[in-house]
Amino acid sequence: MIPIEEAIRLVLEHTQPIDTIRVDLMDALGRTLAEDVRSDIHMPPFDKSAMDGYAVLSCDVQGASRECPAILEVIEEIPAGAVPRRSISAGKAARIMTGAPVPDGADTVVMVEDTVSEQGGHQVKILVPTQMGKNIARLGEDVRYGQVVLEAGTPIRPPEIGILAAVGAVRVPVYRQPVVGVVATGSEIVEPQVVPEPGQIRNSNGCSMTAQLIRAGTSPRYLGIVDDQQDALQKVILKGLDACDILMLSGGVSAGNYDLVQVAMKACGVKVLFDRIQMKPGKPLTFGVKGKKLVFGLPGNPVSSVVGLELLARPAIRKMQRMTDLHRPMVKGRLEEGFHQRPGRKQFVPAWSERQAGLWKTRWVGHHGSADLFSFSQANSLFVVEAEAETLKAGTEVDLILLTEW
Ligand code: AMP
Ligand code: MG
Repeated sequence: MIPIEEAIRLVLEHTQPIDTIRVDLMDALGRTLAEDVRSDIHMPPFDKSAMDGYAVLSCDVQGASRECPAILEVIEEIPAGAVPRRSISAGKAARIMTGAPVPDGADTVVMVEDTVSEQGGHQVKILVPTQMGKNIARLGEDVRYGQVVLEAGTPIRPPEIGILAAVGAVRVPVYRQPVVGVVATGSEIVEPQVVPEPGQIRNSNGCSMTAQLIRAGTSPRYLGIVDDQQDALQKVILKGLDACDILMLSGGVSAGNYDLVQVAMKACGVKVLFDRIQMKPGKPLTFGVKGKKLVFGLPGNPVSSVVGLELLARPAIRKMQRMTDLHRPMVKGRLEEGFHQRPGRKQFVPAWSERQAGLWKTRWVGHHGSADLFSFSQANSLFVVEAEAETLKAGTEVDLILLTEW
């Protein structure tokens, strides 16, 4: 039996980066950029007006004031998207809109608020002096052609989607989402659409695992339910290893006579790295590797399955894709009520937590053991109780793993 920290370390140590692919821009959201991205244009691509106003020669408006305005002839109007047809010389101005190219000759833009239009727009009174270069975003001042705008390894969030769009990167190099094979084991397990007969249990894990795997950024592939028989297990493990990057089995890893997942894993050439973790729930969680492929044998109890996947498999899935923040955010919580445990294993307790005045107030949702998936529906976090702790009084500060974004 190894501590959870050691189990996580072993899993991550055996997790290799996955290969890269190109995806459409919007499909890149939430992924990690696999190559440097360079701009295919200067930005701005031309000298651009940053204001609605008048493009002029700064020397023409040098001494302008409200009492003694500079009067200029307006020779054209340049809306955004247009190209100026005339250049500006002494005594002339062009009415210009934000985002429009500044015409040749002009070296400044006077804000419209500092002007008065006259003679049906053919003339403008400039009421304040404006310095050379003012209100003009210069060609390439933000980004030069060929400049790296995003480096490999950058997490792609909404602003990065905007940056990629701005540089025309519509096919984005990202780390591929691992394909994760999901297998439910157990001769008592039936599919959710079936009304269970005596002795049967519905396959909730296959579905909750798949949902967690989608949230963790993978393409899950459901491989079905397999009886507690070694040859059937071996068959599905070999199939999963062949078709998937990660194989995730549920059930069959405890100490019972029909818990054959580990034996089957080994018979398929999987090197088992651990099969017991000093944690509650999730003690019999089994992990192995075959080459670059990872195999998780999650315990069948639904809460153990959910917690085990979150704490051990999700970080590996993220590391494969070179995502940052491998682990769920951990904050400090304060217990609203006391909590008691039998010492021995580090415990992860489903809880409802609420942030109040900068403090996470944490309430145990009162689950009764690792089969009680229903309690999870009231939980948005897990509080951590150290293995040796026995009684935590109300008000005790605890580590809190947030599952608020799930
Ligand atoms: P096991 O880990 O196979 O010993 O299973 C532990 C408990 O979890 C048993 O009560 C099983 O019936 C239950 N269980 C196993 N697999 C599933 C599953 N896919 N969905 C829901 N419950 C399951
Ligand atoms: Mg079983």
